[in-house]
Amino acid sequence: MSRDTMISNWPFVYEALPMRVLFGVGTRSSVRDEAVRLGMSRVLVVCGPAHENAAREMAGELGDLYAGTYAGARMHTPVDVTEQALAILHELRGNGIVAIGGGSATGLGKALALRTDLPQIALPTTYAGSEMTPILGETKDGVKTTQRSAKVLPETVIYDVDLSMDLPVRLSGVSGMNAIAHSVEALYARDANPIVGALALESIRALVKALPAVCADPHDRAARAGALYGAWLAGICLGAVGMSLHHKLCHTLGGCFDMPHAQTHAVVLPHALAYNAPSIPEVMARLSDALGVKDVPAALYDLNRAIGAPRGLRELGMPEDGIDRCVELVLANPYWNPQPLARAQLHGLLSRAYLGTAPSVDPNSNQGAAS
Ligand code: NAD
Repeated sequence: MSRDTMISNWPFVYEALPMRVLFGVGTRSSVRDEAVRLGMSRVLVVCGPAHENAAREMAGELGDLYAGTYAGARMHTPVDVTEQALAILHELRGNGIVAIGGGSATGLGKALALRTDLPQIALPTTYAGSEMTPILGETKDGVKTTQRSAKVLPETVIYDVDLSMDLPVRLSGVSGMNAIAHSVEALYARDANPIVGALALESIRALVKALPAVCADPHDRAARAGALYGAWLAGICLGAVGMSLHHKLCHTLGGCFDMPHAQTHAVVLPHALAYNAPSIPEVMARLSDALGVKDVPAALYDLNRAIGAPRGLRELGMPEDGIDRCVELVLANPYWNPQPLARAQLHGLLSRAYLGTAPSVDPNSNQGAAS
């Protein structure tokens, strides 16, 4: 039996989330049927400014169910934006939400659903995976807080490969790395289980194969389908189990320095995995088998180069003195992590991520707690 098919992490609990998923090409034309199915009769379409044309197309598909559009979705779901959208939703007497766009549009749809309990249909256009999770992160006065609620989980997700075709190459690669990060951390989550583990490995295999092909030819529909499929599965992993150091670092960096979400995930992932590697030999072996490489952090680092990801956090505008601040914030309110969190090693991790040098396992890394 290959390591890939061995059951680990048992006994375990697996809880499936109630969602309906349509996947294919041209599936967005099913939006009206899905809206009727959910009892919607006055639909508010939400999106970011880049998707106003797509929203117009949605209005055409929805026909008499269409009530209006709010096109002001922004990254990290600022509460003032949600309040504006909520006022419009009430004004239009909307009774359903259709969100079209990346994680920012999905986040706005979720924030509205949290406040109204209205049904949602999400049409994702990036690989962020938010549409698959009952998690909502919202920003107020520069502070991002995250909560889980069944209310925010979209009832229906329509994956239409064609909606991802326009995602610019550079964003496609890093957005895919964001998805890989969900799956990698799901493999060593404290509440990991074999079902999520199988989805995680399948998603990583799909994304690692698809992303270079997407970046070589963004119009390659088969590669786009592979990336979207991998992203879907990665989103399930993110929604199903807890995340660890990698996500903690990215949330902290995003909150402190307003770093771009997907790019930050791409840069940090090889370093966070190298940090955790000494504590998760079995996961590292399964990843090696799945990817056919010996050194997985190095392979992810090389994949970043191949897809044109930024080299380091410095390129993304992080100030150098931010390293200490980030380490302190991570230690002050840590997520559970398989490898103990140690100040000097975290500093080393972030310094390498800052400069964009290769990931490495710290020789002292098993020596434990913060000091
Ligand atoms: P995004 O939605 O902000 O999109 C990034 C940029 O790409 C935007 O300018 C957008 O207009 C553009 N874009 C998106 N799709 C496009 C397409 N097909 N063609 C051309 N341009 C396109 O970024 P994202 O990385 O998808 O999402 C990040 C946000 O989602 C963050 O706020 C993050 O916190 C949140 N998120 C939440 C969860 C969760 O489970 N709650 C999971 C992942 C991400």
